[in-house]
Amino acid sequence: MSLVKTINLNSMFNYDSQSFKLFTKEIVDKIKELVGDKEYVIMEFCGTHTHEISRYALRSILPKNLELRSGPGCPVCVTAEEDIDYIINLVLENDLGVITFGDIVNVPGSVASLSYLRAMGKDVKVVYNPMESIKIAENNLNKNYVLVGIGFETTVPMLAHTLINIKQKGLKNLFYLSLHKLTPPATIALLNSNEVKLDGIIGPGHVSTIIGTKAWEDIAYKYKIPFVIMGFEPQDMLFGIYVLLEKIINKEYGVWNTYLRSVRYEGNKTALDLIFKVFRISSANWRGLGIIPDSGLELNDEFKEYDVKLRFPLTKEIKVRKTACRCGDVLRGAIKPYECPLFAKACKPSSPKGPCMVSSEGSCAAYYLYEMN
Ligand code: SF4
Repeated sequence: MSLVKTINLNSMFNYDSQSFKLFTKEIVDKIKELVGDKEYVIMEFCGTHTHEISRYALRSILPKNLELRSGPGCPVCVTAEEDIDYIINLVLENDLGVITFGDIVNVPGSVASLSYLRAMGKDVKVVYNPMESIKIAENNLNKNYVLVGIGFETTVPMLAHTLINIKQKGLKNLFYLSLHKLTPPATIALLNSNEVKLDGIIGPGHVSTIIGTKAWEDIAYKYKIPFVIMGFEPQDMLFGIYVLLEKIINKEYGVWNTYLRSVRYEGNKTALDLIFKVFRISSANWRGLGIIPDSGLELNDEFKEYDVKLRFPLTKEIKVRKTACRCGDVLRGAIKPYECPLFAKACKPSSPKGPCMVSSEGSCAAYYLYEMN
């Protein structure tokens, strides 16, 4: 039986989209009343929440003693330095072409980013839709390519669909690097570390659309912490934060779904089936969190022939260098972006030193763009 409760905004507030201003005042007043003079720390796991909280300046209207911490919910940001170093070495050793999504090209590894390969004249292509990789490989049959698969549960179905098409077409020059990550195990790792004492969690809306609210139940009950799944409009987030605070103050734990127009208890079965047709669960290396068991996806036996690591094993060992970027600490919520000594000085969106400043969902970029005053 589902232990997840659903809460509809309209059932609790006299709200319609025309009266947003009134709603905002009403709910912010209620949040202030709930918070009082106590201090609370809640974490948003999802990078889109991070971005939208900053973009709509929600911190400026919420009480200062309610702290919103950003977590490891930006898939580009959590890509480990080792993995960027690996792609660079893979290309240098085997002269592969790289096909990937935009942000990842500028993410620094421990030595350089993929833009360094471009500067060397290597073939690094950015696509918006991974299916474009098939056209690229078909038009360049004499060259081998690696499609870099980045993303959480939300993005993986699209990549799984691409891999099924690659197999159906019998392409022999397009390979795959799976850097996919699964979010619940990372949440468990954060809670286990106890580095930041969290009172409640803003559950990811997009990811939960795929994996369902049921994926968070065991975590909420084991760690006795409330999760509220919420949408991304400002009214969604304010309402979700209000519900979360209510649960924290009443010492209730469990999962509450306030994103009813998108998230279901079971998630999206079609998308989940697609994922597990192609991938199986493996460990994954997260920037800032290290290797987390069962938090990644690798190609299953049916698709192993496309695994770039098996087809082009590296001959050299990669030595990762330590950098001054503190993205790892930012991603664990251990520091805020402006507590990094490089923030807004050596590190800006025009000269990023870490992925949290590169990605549109990164917390450093969100703070730099919307919260510098
Ligand atoms: S400000 Fe730049 S260097 Fe510092 S943690 Fe963020 S991305 Fe890394």
